Amino acid sequence: MARLELDSVTKRFGEGDNAVLAVNGVDINIRDGEFLVLVGPSGCGKSTTLRMIAGLESATAGEIRLGDERINEQRPAERNIAMVFQSYALYPHMTVRGNMRFGLEESTDLADEIAERVTETAELLDIDELLDRKPEALSGGQQQRVALGRAIVREPEAFLMDEPLSNLDAKLRSQMRTELQQLQDDLDTTTVYVTHDQTEAMTMGDRIAILNDGILQQVATPLEAYHRPANQFVAGFIGEPPMNFVNCAVEGDTLTDGLFRYRLADETATAVASSTMVTLGIRPEDIVVDASGDALSAAGDHVFPATINVVEPVGNESVVYLSVTDGPDLVATVSGFGRVESGIDVAIRLPENAIHVFDAESGDAVHNRSLDESELVETRVWALTRVLERSETADIPLSISGWQEPVSTISPHDSLSPCRSHARPADLPITEAATTSK
Ligand code: ATP
Repeated sequence: MARLELDSVTKRFGEGDNAVLAVNGVDINIRDGEFLVLVGPSGCGKSTTLRMIAGLESATAGEIRLGDERINEQRPAERNIAMVFQSYALYPHMTVRGNMRFGLEESTDLADEIAERVTETAELLDIDELLDRKPEALSGGQQQRVALGRAIVREPEAFLMDEPLSNLDAKLRSQMRTELQQLQDDLDTTTVYVTHDQTEAMTMGDRIAILNDGILQQVATPLEAYHRPANQFVAGFIGEPPMNFVNCAVEGDTLTDGLFRYRLADETATAVASSTMVTLGIRPEDIVVDASGDALSAAGDHVFPATINVVEPVGNESVVYLSVTDGPDLVATVSGFGRVESGIDVAIRLPENAIHVFDAESGDAVHNRSLDESELVETRVWALTRVLERSETADIPLSISGWQEPVSTISPHDSLSPCRSHARPADLPITEAATTSK
């Protein structure tokens, strides 16, 4: 195990007019034992970054360090790093046992230990019954476990995983996601995991590093990226349905797109004062929808009349597409029990404590939503109590609000502190968050 550091790492493919700057000056410090997820849209440079760490591509500039050692010049086999690919890359003519042994036989002289390591790892991954089968006689999920096993038996200082679950069906993928997190917790091996799937990024990573166009946008815990995005790109990339954006001009203490006007409290107005054009952001779950219209209209501030265009029931919640009268189109999510239907007029509230404001030119966040510590603590204790009670009686997945610690981190016998490094939003440091604009 070791920390892994990328220092201004850059990769340029080709020369002159045809050159592609795939990775542009990326700085990331991955702590010893940390699970870091590298996420971003297709073509943003995730795989190239991973391949440079593995030694499969050379860095054009910058330094890659494993522990205290610069590894730029080391060949892949010399780096004590194991990579798991999307395609599994198993040898078809070898049995599972052969596939798992192969890397070790090639790179070590631990002949006596190899059999023991393979058996132990196969048991850990629940594939010990399959050791004598060939890959063609395995399901996709089983092949993925073998690929993981082959990496684990090497006992590397770091794992690199390139979209390892993307060939699995949705159910198996979700199951493997949980297993992989548990496995990484148990092995405590520094891991860099590449995905374009933001659900994987949010649920698996101790921290996530978000890339766009080869440029690192933010390195943060999942909740920090969600609640305190460094810029509009991150705000729009993390979250489903995505954050709503409304382009506005700043007129004193008011944001306006013409007819739609949103008045700001003094503190927020001061924060946005240096921008002339901004983007107002609000997450769908933060929009309050009142079908009767009465309760909200009475409440006054930041309340707007709107019409519901489409309702998509998902079960636990409904996704509501609405148009503010003389204002923008927005997407809201409401409880699945809520009585909303298309075509009706409603009142909506866009609470000021939930809004984000981004400078239109740079994309940088000039104001992020506020987080109420006392509310947070109360709901957290409530949720944890429920989790502990239920976990002692049944091994069932639970879903709680994003304001609380992830349930998967809590053992029924633990105290109320989490064992992974996810932090509550109010605890989140913003020092490592911001890097560059889009
Ligand atoms: P995806 O999620 O689609 O796999 P990615 O984020 O992993 O995408 P990369 O594969 O790292 O993206 O590619 C980053 C950029 O570098 C892309 O524009 C890609 O076309 C370019 N690129 C990658 N490999 C090469 C190469 N060998 N020669 C030229 N350009 C390349």
